[in-house]
Amino acid sequence: MKETFRVEVSKDVLVFSAGHFITFAGGICERVHGHNWRVKLVVEGPLDANQYVFDFLALRDDAKRIVDRLDHRMLLPTESQLIHVASIGKQAEVRFEDRFWSFPLEETILLPISNTTAELIAKWFAHELEREWTERGMALPPVLVVSIEENFGQWASYERRR
Ligand SMILES: [Zn+2]
Repeated sequence: MKETFRVEVSKDVLVFSAGHFITFAGGICERVHGHNWRVKLVVEGPLDANQYVFDFLALRDDAKRIVDRLDHRMLLPTESQLIHVASIGKQAEVRFEDRFWSFPLEETILLPISNTTAELIAKWFAHELEREWTERGMALPPVLVVSIEENFGQWASYERRR
């Protein structure tokens, strides 16, 4: 017999409104637009001394701090081969072929990913969570899944097992 304990957190506070654009189909670049992105976390692991997999409130609060970094920001990819982002003074200057945008840096978040798809945002989110847990000296759970909903009913997930 194999047992698994799993906790899931998907709260109304784990929603961020943010702008982005992605490239697709070999080099088409979307127009700037936004979503109300929703975040859901799944953690699996053994029970601790409290008989928890993970404290729900701590999980919510840890996720909320990352959500707050994304909320009301323009999401910009710094690893894209097609969208070029440069920090110049207080501005993020962004180019794609002959198109150009400039955003106040403090209204952006520069993400070290190649495209601001829900999939890669989910992966970045998982790494940020684990970085925070590691810095706090916590053991990382055996399974972490971060899912991001970009549009109603359209979820992308990143799952990390160790
Ligand atoms: Zn979009």
